[in-house]
Amino acid sequence: MRAYKFLLRPTVRQEQALAEMLRDHCSLYNGALQERRDAYRHTSKTTVRYGDQSAQLKEIRAFDPERQGRWSFSSQQATLRRLDRAFTAFFRRVKAGLAPGYPRFKGTGHFDTVTFPKDGDGCRWDSTPHDRQTRVRLQGVGHVRVHRHRPVRGRVKTISVKREGRRWYVVLACDDVPAEPLPATGSTVGIDMGVTHFLTTSDGEHMENPRFLETMAKELATAQQHLSTFPRRTRRRTKKHRAAARKVATIHAKIRRQRLDHHHKRANELIRDHDVIAHENLNTAGMTKRPAAKPDPERPGGFLTNGAAAKAGLNRSILNAGWGMFLGILAQKAESAARRVIPVDAHNTSRTCPDCGHVAKENRLTQADFKCTACGFTANADHVGALNVLSRAGLVLCDGV
Ligand SMILES: [Zn+2]
Repeated sequence: MRAYKFLLRPTVRQEQALAEMLRDHCSLYNGALQERRDAYRHTSKTTVRYGDQSAQLKEIRAFDPERQGRWSFSSQQATLRRLDRAFTAFFRRVKAGLAPGYPRFKGTGHFDTVTFPKDGDGCRWDSTPHDRQTRVRLQGVGHVRVHRHRPVRGRVKTISVKREGRRWYVVLACDDVPAEPLPATGSTVGIDMGVTHFLTTSDGEHMENPRFLETMAKELATAQQHLSTFPRRTRRRTKKHRAAARKVATIHAKIRRQRLDHHHKRANELIRDHDVIAHENLNTAGMTKRPAAKPDPERPGGFLTNGAAAKAGLNRSILNAGWGMFLGILAQKAESAARRVIPVDAHNTSRTCPDCGHVAKENRLTQADFKCTACGFTANADHVGALNVLSRAGLVLCDGV
């Protein structure tokens, strides 16, 4: 499976229809959620299922031909299925003893995707390989121009339409995508994902964090500051309030696009140069969780420092670096290029001496420096991490796993 995302170039009238399509799918979603809520609360905890709601779709469409009847039946089913998935996830977490939030109603501004489960059903991808003038036909919207910046390989399975800020995109999920293997290089590399550097390879090469993030972070802070001067909950937002909110959203979208671009470039470099790429198995969910408060035995009601502030700073960098997303992109590119990606155990990779194997917290002098207390081996700390990842990958490869 591979996803392609292309910018749409709708006409003014088509853009209006797209917005209406989102609005009406949103109200279908919320209406179906309301029904499930009511049934759960009042009718002695009976559950409404996807099948029940899908069966009503015909009547809903007949009842409201203006707002529901004009859209694709299948895309509406997909929206109901999306609600069903939200409920399945909710009940699974309840069962696991967690405290999940009940599925929420979506505001029209927060419902941004409509999915067509099958090409040719309510939508049609209309493209010839050498023709740049690609269009996608969407029921109720029309024949929308697509900026297809690269060729689509494989067979188009599902088509989604997505709104991001003021832009519209079409996302294709394709299968049977032919692999395009790259020539073998005979090289295996370990990578260490860090805060100072985006990542460091076992060859000692640093790939830097993207610079733009700093500039954008400042811009974002200013825009958020401005937005916070408006009241949080109002019946009707003023024009200025809406503009301030849009500014924040635009900056977020820009950061997302630029970061993604950075990830693609770095992943391409690694894939091009190495046959096997090993990385630490990151538990980002655990790393970004807030540390638990430690009560102070000396002072009742007081708390010991738990490094929460330092960790908050680190959390921010982790989230900014978006490692999870990067590894996803890397794995996907590796698969289509017939390269291998190996996750290895991250335990003590920053404390182990790559030369003699001595493990000690004291080996790590500072954030940047490593000096083995047993044999005196010194190196950049991130480089050490990458070397340890590489040697662990070697063990994995020897075991033939
Ligand atoms: Zn050593």
